[in-house]
Amino acid sequence: MAPTTRREIIKSACFAAAAGLASFIKSPLFAAVQGKAIIGFKPGYLKLHRSGELKRRGEALWALMERCELCPRMCGVNKLKGEKGFCGADAQLEVSSFHPHFGEEKPLVGSGGSGAIFLTHCGLRCVFCINWQISQGGAGYRLSIADLADMMLHLQAGGCPNINFVTPTHYAPHILLAVDSAAARGLKIPLVYNTCGWERLSILKVLDGVVDIYLPDFKYADGRMAAKYSSGALAYVQDTQQALLEMHR
Ligand code: SF4
Repeated sequence: MAPTTRREIIKSACFAAAAGLASFIKSPLFAAVQGKAIIGFKPGYLKLHRSGELKRRGEALWALMERCELCPRMCGVNKLKGEKGFCGADAQLEVSSFHPHFGEEKPLVGSGGSGAIFLTHCGLRCVFCINWQISQGGAGYRLSIADLADMMLHLQAGGCPNINFVTPTHYAPHILLAVDSAAARGLKIPLVYNTCGWERLSILKVLDGVVDIYLPDFKYADGRMAAKYSSGALAYVQDTQQALLEMHR
């Protein structure tokens, strides 16, 4: 029987990775992210939306911005009062661009392109960032949660097989609330969390059942290098190892 829950799908995907690409391309996850109809496949966020849990989780994350601990920097600024964190973000959502992305990992692209939404700012702040203008230069537009929901629906209507949040960590509350709003209006494609990998376990637990596919980096195996090239992130290695295990359990 085809897997129907996120856990079953991840297990399926992990098995497929072990068994090789030939198996993976037959898996429900592969088909689901490419937008093919899979009987019984439904992203987990739909159930959480219907029960009201998705909105509750989004509001709980929103409250964390009063003394922000959304990412491992835990810099504690009050974003709700307009303070900007180490990441450069306050509570106002900023988005740089959104479009079908054909340069993403191939299984996510399908025929319509991965539905990428590039979020402005970043808490890791690497010296080698290829998106520096967005992550550290502040390129973007101040938009509402309703705007973010509209973007997702627009990408879905245009044939994108998934929504791909690029650098989402500092806007996790906005994302959950926007997904809740978009789900009420027909969003039904999988969510990709395209992250630097430096995530807090407590936040990943809030995302359990919401995110369908994690697409994390693992940038360093030596904390001294992480500190040198990613703005003092000495604990990147340990934090990210734990985060990866949580994402793939
Ligand atoms: S998300 Fe930004 S404001 Fe919040 S802890 Fe991280 S760096 Fe600080």
